[in-house]
Amino acid sequence: MTERIHNFNPGPAALPLSVLEKVQAEMLNFRDSGMSILEISHRSDLFGEVLASARNRARRLFNLPDNYRVLFIQGGASLQFAMAPMNFLGTGDRADYINTGTWATKAFEQATLLGKNVRYAASSEDQSFSCIPTKADIDTGARYVHITSNNTIRGTQWRTYPDTGGIPLVCDMCSDMLSRPVPVEKFGLIYAGAQKNLGPAGLTLVIIREDMLLWNPDAVMPTLMRYKTYSDHYSMYNTPPCFGIYVAEKVMAWLEEDIGGLEAMASLNAAKAERLYGALDATDFYQGTAAEADRSLMNVTFRLRHRDLEAIFIKEALAAGLGGLKGHKSVGGCRASLYNATGMDAVESLVAFMKNFEKRMG
Ligand code: PMP
Repeated sequence: MTERIHNFNPGPAALPLSVLEKVQAEMLNFRDSGMSILEISHRSDLFGEVLASARNRARRLFNLPDNYRVLFIQGGASLQFAMAPMNFLGTGDRADYINTGTWATKAFEQATLLGKNVRYAASSEDQSFSCIPTKADIDTGARYVHITSNNTIRGTQWRTYPDTGGIPLVCDMCSDMLSRPVPVEKFGLIYAGAQKNLGPAGLTLVIIREDMLLWNPDAVMPTLMRYKTYSDHYSMYNTPPCFGIYVAEKVMAWLEEDIGGLEAMASLNAAKAERLYGALDATDFYQGTAAEADRSLMNVTFRLRHRDLEAIFIKEALAAGLGGLKGHKSVGGCRASLYNATGMDAVESLVAFMKNFEKRMG
């Protein structure tokens, strides 16, 4: 492959070309320091400016009220599965989880592993996670309700967030963070690994309501597991994931300055998804797997009516410059991930390929 492909990877995933070009241009000599960003001290003024800018851009993009903090952490979303219950649930505290797929299950499992008092308030497991539960039996005494805003594997998404009667949502927003505006006041904690809509793997963006930093002050836990450590030290208690933060700052600059913010991004994302779902629905050669009302705008999951053609479809697509279309190994089939940096041009190319494939094979 000598040219860049249309990238439908589920994560790590496509980044805006202009961001990659800027990273490339600055790689040998970052802002006349004579060094790359990879080689400078995290305590330097130069890096301090990058970190502050990343934090401020996240604040503006999410339109964060003053009582929310932005933290940059390592360990991926999977570490957050454990950190959230550790930090928020003391002796006698309870929390509810809503099970919408593999990642939601893993989040729940970490809470139970830690001996926390958690239960499922709703689940779509009996429908093979093809939809979002319509009702949840929320415990009014729960400290938080955990949801997964977008289910990367099954291709479902919370289009509107559940009504919890004021109990804060703790949300795994890995695969749709920064794809649309978010009503932040409903959330106590938002977390996401960067590797889909924000930047390189190794960085986790965390947004936390500040009173929740003090919810479980007496619990014994490693210093780096405590959200307050990151908040008190502006995410610089120890060496932060500098390169990830640097790329994320550029991706958020692209979102703010080139795209025009999350409203604009959401319209572009809706148009891309509508185009692809429209093409899927126009024929029974392809079959969407998620319930229509709950379809993800980020991960479009589908099967071919002739299952034995799926491997050929994926192989030929790649040869035609369309990469990353294989479904998750746990469910098979096909999946086109349409994160922010995957443009309508990529979707148009995929739709054209799909029509042509059907004509030849159908
Ligand atoms: N949650 C969701 C919704 C995901 O899609 C993923 C990764 N695909 C994870 C959690 C796990 O993230 P990480 O690898 O950063 O731990």
